[in-house]
Amino acid sequence: MRNDMKALAKTKPETGLWLDHRPVPGIGPDDVLIRIRKTGICGTDIHIWNWDEWAARTVPLGLVTGHEFAGEIVELGRNVEGLTIGQRCSGEGHLIGKQSRQSRAGRFHLDPATRGIGVNEQGAFAEYLRLPAFNVVPLPDEIDDEIGAILDPLGNAVHTALSFDLVGEDVLITGAGPIGVMAAAVARHVGARHVVITDVNQDRLDLAGKVADVMPVNVARQELKEVEGALKMKEGFDVGMEMSGNQAALDQMIENLVMGGRIAMLGIPPGKSPVDWSRIVFKAITIKGVYGREIFETWYKMIAMLENGLDIRGVITHRFKLADFRDGFEVMRSGKSGKVVLDWD
Ligand code: ZN
Repeated sequence: MRNDMKALAKTKPETGLWLDHRPVPGIGPDDVLIRIRKTGICGTDIHIWNWDEWAARTVPLGLVTGHEFAGEIVELGRNVEGLTIGQRCSGEGHLIGKQSRQSRAGRFHLDPATRGIGVNEQGAFAEYLRLPAFNVVPLPDEIDDEIGAILDPLGNAVHTALSFDLVGEDVLITGAGPIGVMAAAVARHVGARHVVITDVNQDRLDLAGKVADVMPVNVARQELKEVEGALKMKEGFDVGMEMSGNQAALDQMIENLVMGGRIAMLGIPPGKSPVDWSRIVFKAITIKGVYGREIFETWYKMIAMLENGLDIRGVITHRFKLADFRDGFEVMRSGKSGKVVLDWD
């Protein structure tokens, strides 16, 4: 095997990522080496590209970025069982510790010692990725590399959407980015009655309407109360999924929820954000913060749903060859795209 590979790295403390040559990572006894085929560009990667305050504080210079990937196993550590060379896979990008109470209880996604590939550790924007075998998720033939490369964000969507029972429920999703759109598709797939998705970006709402059987609402132009009337909803939405991190959106969600409504929150508000707690108390609302994916229950559920008709391919709006990665990042930064997939072959 070659010992030199291409990788997208944060080599300078300024805007951008740079195509670099790196040694192919060596693997330990419990790791596998994955030949990367496709990768997805995440909002997190855009923060790193932009080198904003969070990125400068979090990401070590020189890091190979990226955490959304699909590829093929090309090398197995000597302790690895149950995986084979040539097997297609994606994988969980959160590298967990084994010491915490949560981890020892099997709630791996709640381990406080978690480190992320492409954020704290060498990432997947490279021809080869070293990953603990524990983190590998084999892909069935029905899931191609392109979908395999967006299972990480689909996992965020599935984890959020399955936080509360949605059968027969009316669901409000605030934020029509790719994860919001995929969550809407999941909500329909599992049997929600009405799914309304809001945003102020019309391009994203148009995409939402194409990908999922949902009602997109531009809240800059239309009142949610009107929509509820048109859908003959009497008391408001049963379940909310906050995907925007926008204060006004959360406020609107709380306003439009039923008594005893439930909110799953994935969007990250910038800094501290004022909340009308008395209204949350008097409406007896439950709020759940959602982080990452449940390892590996979310993976199991999403693969099962994809095998059984969940169709989210439309959320991928752009595909680029590695050589054109700059165009991929530019289209993501424009806010006018869905998921952008890079091809490493
Ligand atoms: Zn991501």
